[in-house]
Amino acid sequence: MKNFTYVRANSIEDAVSRATSDRQAMFIAGGTNLVDRLKVFLDEPSQLVDVSRLEMKQIERTNTGSLKIGALVTNTALANHIEVRRNYPLLSRAVLAGASQQIRNMATVGGNLMQRTRCPYYYDTAFPCNKRQQNTGCPATTGMNRTHAILGASESCVATNPSDMSVALAAIDAVVEVEGVQGKREIPLIDFHRLPGNNPERDTNLEPGELITAVILPPLSFSQSGVYLKLRDRASYAFALVSVATALEVAGDKIKTARVALGGVAHKPWRAMEAEEFLIGKAANKSNFEQAAEIALQDAQPLAHNGFKVELSKRAIRRALAVSAQGGGLA
Ligand code: SF4
Repeated sequence: MKNFTYVRANSIEDAVSRATSDRQAMFIAGGTNLVDRLKVFLDEPSQLVDVSRLEMKQIERTNTGSLKIGALVTNTALANHIEVRRNYPLLSRAVLAGASQQIRNMATVGGNLMQRTRCPYYYDTAFPCNKRQQNTGCPATTGMNRTHAILGASESCVATNPSDMSVALAAIDAVVEVEGVQGKREIPLIDFHRLPGNNPERDTNLEPGELITAVILPPLSFSQSGVYLKLRDRASYAFALVSVATALEVAGDKIKTARVALGGVAHKPWRAMEAEEFLIGKAANKSNFEQAAEIALQDAQPLAHNGFKVELSKRAIRRALAVSAQGGGLA
């Protein structure tokens, strides 16, 4: 084991400065994924910069009507916050669909965005893995790949992003606020995570030393139509085989705005933009939902063991859209 130092950051600037001057440093808050990785030596930081006591625990309304979620808000606090439950029920349901109560009590919003894939080969150091070490190979492409990606993958990596919360945030058009030595910047959630390409070791578009400080939820007038449908091998404490987040704004008998995001199918939360565009101006009916689902999966490239995800995704999209059209709720 490689020894590391532990420091408690006394400000955001302090944390960013430490992580910028030492590229081997890592931030830690709830630690619900990072500690697991440390235990099996997937990460060997030179220092852990503890950001858990910094002032990033508020949920507050901004003067533009957005809801700003501090990066250290726990998943439990987020899911149960009255404004989130009332105005973004889709997000509350997605968070409650993830992990266990104990983990949600510790896990933070920022950490949720930073969690890494649960590809079993990534966690088993007896196997090579391009995400762990560049140009060593991807055993999942020819091995057991039932839980792996069907969209946006590459020959280098077919892993999926495990987050439920991120799928809901993608549908909401959330924005991630980050701070680095150059100051603050905002990254749309759908651009925060990366597709694997030739660099699967990089999960996000964060620059070295940047710290997530908040996630901003824009006002969503049709949020009550929000649905999060998660399909998995068992009813709790399991990652999604496929998940779908939908919301619909219907004016008269026509769809004015549509949101469709998928989880469990790609290296990042997957917004089905072409399906959304197809739905605009159409009637909210079964036939159009079926066509939207076909469009959303038209570029799917299943592997040997995960072809079922294509049909499962289509059915989940159809179901979630139908419930959104009825006003939202549980699918
Ligand atoms: Fe590693 Fe990605 Fe291949 Fe899994 S899918 S073994 S994480 S390179």
